[in-house]
Amino acid sequence: VDSTQPSGASTAQSEALFDRARRVTPGGVNSPVRAFRSVGGVPRFMASADGAYLTDADGTRYVDYIGSWGPMILGHNHPAVRDAVVQAAQDGTSFGAPGWREVDLAELVCRVTGAQKVRFVNSGTEATMSALRLARGFTGRKYTLKFRGNYHGHADALLVEAGSGLMTNADQLGTAAPSSAGVPDEYARLTLVSEYNDPQALDALMRERGHEIAAVIFEPVVGNAGVLLPTPDFLSALHRVREHGTLLIADEVMTGFRLSANGATGRLGLTPDLSCWGKIIGGGLPVGAYGGRAEIMDFVSPQGPVYQAGTLSGNPLAMSAGLATLQALQDDPGLYARLDAYTERLAQGLQAAADEAGVTVCINHVGSMLTVFFQAGPVATYTDAARSDTAAFAVWFQGLLRRGVYWAPSQFESIFVSGVHGDTELQATLQAAREAFLEVA
Ligand code: PLP
Repeated sequence: VDSTQPSGASTAQSEALFDRARRVTPGGVNSPVRAFRSVGGVPRFMASADGAYLTDADGTRYVDYIGSWGPMILGHNHPAVRDAVVQAAQDGTSFGAPGWREVDLAELVCRVTGAQKVRFVNSGTEATMSALRLARGFTGRKYTLKFRGNYHGHADALLVEAGSGLMTNADQLGTAAPSSAGVPDEYARLTLVSEYNDPQALDALMRERGHEIAAVIFEPVVGNAGVLLPTPDFLSALHRVREHGTLLIADEVMTGFRLSANGATGRLGLTPDLSCWGKIIGGGLPVGAYGGRAEIMDFVSPQGPVYQAGTLSGNPLAMSAGLATLQALQDDPGLYARLDAYTERLAQGLQAAADEAGVTVCINHVGSMLTVFFQAGPVATYTDAARSDTAAFAVWFQGLLRRGVYWAPSQFESIFVSGVHGDTELQATLQAAREAFLEVA
């Protein structure tokens, strides 16, 4: 990699596409963070991706740390995944009837995660939304509880204190405001909010309201406020919510199959009642899933009274990409150790580069997830994360981008390392980071 290659590279094609896109799509993008609002500059429109690299419409190549926001743990254009999708396409793109691939994938997911039954949907949002409906149906209770700064997709009742968007001070125990226009207060009131990594607050809220709370949903390791790691005391408090008959729902959409074969909960020794998956489980195609104990899952229709359906759910192309990805993960037992080692070296190199430049950062990382917070830290909660210097982050981000490193375009996101990031990419990244930190200092 020539780390200076993209400096001064043209962005004419991206600019032209962005102009056209803004005329026909809100903000010119189909998901907000892609618009570079918090870091400025022209969002790069991508033309292709291969291995650890993205190539934009102007032909500039970047070391990719987004990995499509998580799915591409094997790197882009992995031959086994591509071949499986091509084969599936030749067999027909959608049946509207069940097929063998969804059975294979369900068996594999159950075997690896310990879930007894699983239902496939089309996105992480659908997975969490459906899991909460199921929890309400199963317990007969209407309230749910989430944590400030945890993001569980964009279903109405979950767009409450959801990640980097809005911060509202709850003035009453557990009450919170919507994070989006269009979410009625009445919906928001059904979602109680507590602070991540605050076991006392969770215990207090559960003592007072536990009997009416159907489920506590949480990111076992947070990626959506930047990376936040759970403390042991907080994990114990999460386990205690079940004393109130409340279900524990692990949102593993980001961490599932990433932090270990059995996600963050496997790594942390947590046993939730239900789990939600997305991203890696679809290998880069649109898939989500929720699953857990059969006794609960059997409440889902047509077996039970909780309705949930989907025209394209279990789609053969999507299932084939998920199957090939999970199979490749199974076939490479050393992968997680390699991901951890790369990310550890990345963290150390970035810390050294920041120190040399005299820039204060706090780096949180676990497995192949990492965030460089532009502040002294420690960063354990969303309130901590929100103290970061987002202007300094934006300068650093642009410095990386000009040098051919595509970092997550927000201070409050995790980056994702893939199995094909190696020494070449690490050296190029650290060289770019050293130079970019000097521009911040
Ligand atoms: N849950 C978590 C933890 C996520 O990180 C995300 C997306 O980033 C979602 C849910 C929503 O998934 P999707 O974007 O596929 O709807």
